[in-house]
Amino acid sequence: MGSPPEPAGNDVKRFLRTVTETQGTHLTIDGCSLLNFSSNNYLGLARHPQVLEGVKQVLEHWGAGATSSRLISGTSVIHQDLESALAAYVRREAALLFPSGYMANLGVMTSLAGPGDAVVLDRLCHASLVDAVRLSGARLFVYRHADPEDADRVLGRAAPYRRRLLVSESLFSMDGDFAPLEALGTVARRHGALSIVDDAHALGLWETRTEGWTVIIGTLSKSLGAQGGFVAASRDVIDLFVNKARSFIFTTGLSPLCVAAAQAALSLIQEDVQAREGVKRLSARLRDGLKILGFDTLVSQSHIVPIRLGGADNALACADHLRQAGIFAPAIRPPTVHAGQCRLRFSVTAEHSEADIDSLLKAMSTLIPRPLLP
Ligand code: PMP
Repeated sequence: MGSPPEPAGNDVKRFLRTVTETQGTHLTIDGCSLLNFSSNNYLGLARHPQVLEGVKQVLEHWGAGATSSRLISGTSVIHQDLESALAAYVRREAALLFPSGYMANLGVMTSLAGPGDAVVLDRLCHASLVDAVRLSGARLFVYRHADPEDADRVLGRAAPYRRRLLVSESLFSMDGDFAPLEALGTVARRHGALSIVDDAHALGLWETRTEGWTVIIGTLSKSLGAQGGFVAASRDVIDLFVNKARSFIFTTGLSPLCVAAAQAALSLIQEDVQAREGVKRLSARLRDGLKILGFDTLVSQSHIVPIRLGGADNALACADHLRQAGIFAPAIRPPTVHAGQCRLRFSVTAEHSEADIDSLLKAMSTLIPRPLLP
């Protein structure tokens, strides 16, 4: 979420934490090993043996870097193989890799919209989508979160603009709920708008109804456990990005190591459905347990489980309490969320066990006073 202005004050000052070791579900910070609930490595593939083996083989053959931009000599057969595999996975004609999901969003929006156009965004869309619209020079409109009727109304207001885009995430990164993609897609078609869905957090884990959406944007950095972004669409739209997306054209091709990691992870995801079922089961256990303890898990329906804590001081105190119990889940504050909407965001991964979820619930049960119970 990028629209709220950044409030001043120490409660929102950011700093970097140094991780000195990671091992499975644990990371070491300041010499303390902590059970990690902040990772986007949702399927635990970042260090899967088959992923590491794929990376080793590619390292020997292709080296560490792509050494050139894609339009010069940085397009290798492994880039193209991954693009074909991603396109097939999301059922589109073609796909194009970007150095990150953030840059994919910039490339899509600046290629498809410009001054005189309108982009209509769910109000909780990620900062990268907001930034992308700003950079495009198009007029930014927002509709009420996950509300197709409001999207319809706002697209109606945007009718005088030359080209209109409707943009949503499939699974919202900080709230953990799903967008009503089918209904939103219908609204977009009714208004003759292009439809763009950012599938960053659902990809590989949840089936999303993206049929009929013009462009799907994904990242390699979450369930796929690697790094990089991609867009998938019809061949014509992908050709447009090759020619117009400056965040594709003017940067070095994605590292062969990331390509190899993502390719191996994509194969694993398609072979192993157990892992994702396990994540869903554990997520429900966490959400139910938190609700029984009296916490407000907002509208979460997925492996992203936030608890609403209101002010930044509350969120920081709660994160601190967990850290003392050996658990890492940082406070999420503005500008990542709107002021007053501070929270902890737990992400459940395939590496967690029932015992891990129960440790977190136990630590949450000893939080006194309980902040802002609904
Ligand atoms: N879209 C969404 C919805 C995200 O949450 C993020 C990152 N958290 C991105 C795009 C950016 O992806 P990347 O980290 O690959 O740049």
